[in-house]
Parts: sequence; C-alpha cells; structure tokens
Amino acid sequence: MNVNAFSSGGLRAFGGCLFVLLFSLAGISCAEAVPAQSEYVIGTVCTVNLYEKGTKAAYKDIFDRLREIEARMSANADGTEVDAINKSAGVAPVAVHEDVRAVVKAALRFAALSGGALDPTIGPVVKLWNIGSDDPRVPSPAELKAALPLVDWKDVVVDDAAGTVFLKRAGMKLDLGAMAKGYAADEVARIIAKHKIPRAIVDLGGNVMAVGEKQGGEPWRVGVQDPSSERGNHIGILPVKNKTLVTSGIYERFFEADGKHYHHILSPRDGYPVENGLISVTIVADRSIDADCLSTATFALGLEAGRKLVESLPGVEAIFIDTDFRVTITPGLAGTFRITDDRFTLKKD
Ligand code: FAD
Ligand code: MG
Repeated sequence: MNVNAFSSGGLRAFGGCLFVLLFSLAGISCAEAVPAQSEYVIGTVCTVNLYEKGTKAAYKDIFDRLREIEARMSANADGTEVDAINKSAGVAPVAVHEDVRAVVKAALRFAALSGGALDPTIGPVVKLWNIGSDDPRVPSPAELKAALPLVDWKDVVVDDAAGTVFLKRAGMKLDLGAMAKGYAADEVARIIAKHKIPRAIVDLGGNVMAVGEKQGGEPWRVGVQDPSSERGNHIGILPVKNKTLVTSGIYERFFEADGKHYHHILSPRDGYPVENGLISVTIVADRSIDADCLSTATFALGLEAGRKLVESLPGVEAIFIDTDFRVTITPGLAGTFRITDDRFTLKKD
C-alpha cells in the first residue's frame, strides 16, 4: 500500500472504510452470563461486554446512563442542557446537572494545558462545517472569520456553588463532542464497579475502557486499528489492565469536496481541519475523560507539542501515527506496545 496515500486527496482511495477502531482481541476466557450489548447512543455505536457477573440489570443501568448523558450533553439536539447553555449565551447563566459541569471543567483544564488547541467553545465553527451530518460543506472564509471570535474557552464561567454554566458572549456555543464520550466511559466503569463486576470491555465508538484484567490475571490485549484498512486489522497491540485507550483521527468523520479531504478536528485558530502530518493519536490513561480531552488536544497540537504535553502528565501515554505510517510512542509504552504490521515503523528519536 502506498504510504503516502494519506496526503491531501489520496484519502479517496480508502473511501468510507478509513477509520481506526480499538478493539479487544480474542483469547478472552469468558463464562458470559448475558451476552455483550450494543446500542447507538451518544452519536456512536456503544458496545459493552461484561464478561463475568453481567446481568440484565447491570446492562440496563449502563445504557440508561448513556442515554441520560446524551440527553444532557448533545450539541446536536434541541432541549439538552448544552443547548440551553448555548441559547443563553451572553444573556444568563444556566443551571445544569453536575455531569455537564464536570465535562466543561475538564475541557477547560485541558484547554488551558493545550494553550487553546482544545477548545470546548469550538461550536460555531463545528456548526459551519456540519461534518458527520448528511450535509457537510466547506464554509467561506468570511463565515469562518465571523465565527472565530466566538471561540474562546476563557469566556466560559462554571459556578459550582450556583450549579451553572455561562458563555459570556452572545453567539458562543459549547460543543462537548471531544470530551463527553470519555466522561461516559468513566461513568460506565463506575456502574460496572458498583455491580461488583470484575472484568469488562467498554467500547464507546472506539473510546475503549478495559476494566480489570482477563481471567487468570493476564492483561487485556487491545489492538490499535490500522487507519488504512477495514475495521479489525490492527497495526499493533497494547497489553493493559484497568486502562482506557482513546483515539482521535482523520479517518472516521470526514467528507470530500473538490478532491480534498476535510476531517472533523478543527483548529480554533483558523477554523480549518488541522493538517499537521498526523493521522491518529491514541491516548492511554486511567481516566477516559482525560484521555478523550487529550486525544483531541494532542492531535490539534501536533506531534512535538502533543508529545511534550503527554510526557508532562503522570500516568498518561500516547501513540502517534503519521501519514508516512511512522509510529511515535511515549517512553512508558516502550517494551509493551508491539507493532504487528510491518508497513508501520516505530520512529526512534
Ligand atoms: P474527538 O477527537 O474526541 O472529538 C472531535 C470532535 O470534537 C469534533 O467532531 C467536534 O465536535 C469537536 N472538535 C473539533 N475540533 C475541536 C477542538 N479543536 N477542540 C475541541 N473540540 C473540537 N454525532 C452525530 O453525528 N449525531 C449525533 O446526534 C451526535 N450526538 C452526540 C451526542 C453526544 C452526547 C456526544 C458526546 C456526541 C454526539 N455525536 C453525535 C458525536 C460528536 O458530534 C462528535 O463528532 C464525536 O463525539 C467525535 O468523537 P471522536 O472520538 O471521533 O473525536
Ligand atoms: Mg477526544
């Protein structure tokens, strides 16, 4: 396969099958009480596999919670709490559930850490592109110029005492798409612990939480999908216990216009999809909200600044893949992450 196929218009060659999925590899010894369950919620297919002690009640709790989070946080539906915050931008603070405040606070923390590369107020720019809908389009430079001044995470006020979130200027819009799946994965892990289920794999559209370890004390082996092929082919394997892996990339949500590939991770600086030679970043961490914020933030920052940020955070690791299929890992993964596809090479410093 042509390793340059990811540059500019070359993505067309892969059509709609260009995505990365993290998946739990086979070899799991399981006496399943209730089979794995999947549902389309929070804008993606969510699959939960409770390998042991999984009950209908546990699955119900999990999927009820995911629907509750979607109902509070979707920026794509009327009547959610995020929608209410957006509609009251520049007018008044809005009382919201602590779920929403927790995600906004995490987003603001990582916005600060990334120097604004991650910005939860990217909403006006996201709406212009409309990527992921049936009707994506390339906005005009004038539209982007009008929207960009509304993007500034410093103009978000979270008041925990009052239980409110306020966007200071009219026209501002929150978009929690880069963070909420991570929060949701942490909530699913909490419910799994509450039900005293010792091992499980949670996959919220590629946002993976590996709970516990495999029976017998072995780590889960999580595969990092080959971005150039169908789901299921992996470029490498990472053994993990009680960790989350979250990937951001250019392969899953995108559209093409005039032979050009436009993906969904947008620069808060110029409003265009970030192009920095990366095709994906996978973050490995304890908390999925951190990993979700960081996957988007480090993708937007690029390899050097992204790696520096990850290395400054204890307990967080990353796998960066570039358009030439070179793979960069942070030091904590040396000796554990194993590349299994020889078209991909580990980049040495
Ligand atoms: P990530 O890298 O984690 O996030 C990328 C997303 O974050 C982009 O799609 C954009 O929304 C936003 N973003 C882009 N650039 C930046 C930036 N620089 N800083 C911060 N954020 C940025 N999708 C649908 O198609 N229909 C739905 O009805 C729908 N409902 C959803 C409801 C909820 C509660 C959530 C959490 C998501 C929903 N989504 C829906 C999906 C959502 O719009 C995002 O596209 C998705 O969460 C992207 O996740 P990711 O892991 O692929 O990428
Ligand atoms: Mg993210």
